[in-house]
Amino acid sequence: MVKETVFYDVLGVKPSASAEELKKAYRKLALKYHPDKNPNEGEKFKQISQAYEVLSDSKKRELYDRGGEQAIKEGGGGGGGFGSPMDIFDMFFGGGGRMHRERRGKNVVHQLSVSLEDLYSGATRKLALQKNVICEKCEGRGGKKGSVECCPVCRGTGMQVRIHQIGPGMVQQIQSVCQECQGHGERISPKDRCKTCCGRKIVMEKKILEVHIDKGMKDGQKLTFHGEGDQEPGLEPGDIIIVLDQKDHSVFTRQGEDLVMHMELGLVEALCGFHRPITTLDKRTIIITSYPGHIVKHGDIKCVLNEGMPIYRRPYEKGRLIIQFKVNFPSNGSIQTDKLALLEKLLPARHEVDITDDMEQVDLVDFDPQQSRQRYNGEAYDDDVDHPRTGVQCQTS
Ligand SMILES: [Zn+2]
Ligand SMILES: [Zn+2]
Repeated sequence: MVKETVFYDVLGVKPSASAEELKKAYRKLALKYHPDKNPNEGEKFKQISQAYEVLSDSKKRELYDRGGEQAIKEGGGGGGGFGSPMDIFDMFFGGGGRMHRERRGKNVVHQLSVSLEDLYSGATRKLALQKNVICEKCEGRGGKKGSVECCPVCRGTGMQVRIHQIGPGMVQQIQSVCQECQGHGERISPKDRCKTCCGRKIVMEKKILEVHIDKGMKDGQKLTFHGEGDQEPGLEPGDIIIVLDQKDHSVFTRQGEDLVMHMELGLVEALCGFHRPITTLDKRTIIITSYPGHIVKHGDIKCVLNEGMPIYRRPYEKGRLIIQFKVNFPSNGSIQTDKLALLEKLLPARHEVDITDDMEQVDLVDFDPQQSRQRYNGEAYDDDVDHPRTGVQCQTS
């Protein structure tokens, strides 16, 4: 048992979650609450990041499971501080290295929802994005050649200092970004400003990205479009990173290169054989057959080779289609009791039991997990004293 579940709750997973499940949960939430997309959820973004930072590290996770957040704060070396949420995000999404950050614009991450069919057959999707590009009209200068001058208000520093009287003989210096040049330190007089970008040097442009989803790609796989991020004068543009997000499928679950499905059988099919059609992800119909004489038991797992997911970059090879069988027994009353003797003749002989006087006959009732727990706490236990157990369920309320 874990001591507390707060970090797991933040990520919306169970404490038994696998590393893969944690990654997926972080990926979805971090993209949803990233300040670029959700500027008002900074605190939530931080919580997600901290929870993932701890749970993705097996040593820290063990420490947390045993002692909760307190244990993380106390131990774990280095004062138990958390990394910056942005660094963790960049690391996770392959954010192009911090070294280059000064000369490179930031990477932009987008999530692309895809179906299991898309990942099976491959697909091309067009993604419309808005991005900043350098203004072509003024070649990113913001105005006519030679029209850029040092900002006279801040003298090129980009900062404005105001003196504020806060009491007799007491002044306070307040530093703020220069209003005139927005902190750039330079200015273009209104009459020389580029009409296209209004002196901003960049314009917003609609960009269509063609995303090729190859057969066998996985949920969470990243596709990087180098240099397609926002443009800014003097900066090398960052990348656009598309992260695939696979929607759940109603029939198949992917497990690596295998596909897993459940199939319900009637008792007659389980005992006497069956044919069953299955519609594949590329809309073919395949038929599976169980021949008479082969019995499929409840919980049996069988598979069809080469009907799983295609292998990424080797699409002619495929994994397995794994089928987990559930056998539905007839419900009470659906078999005529007078015909049971007939059925019994067909089945293997039963094991006969000799009942002797020293044996005690007891009742068999439906199992109710709720009831056995009630016996041990509070009133229900006391009631037991007043109404000794009779073997039938007693209703105590
Ligand atoms: Zn200025
Ligand atoms: Zn311009």
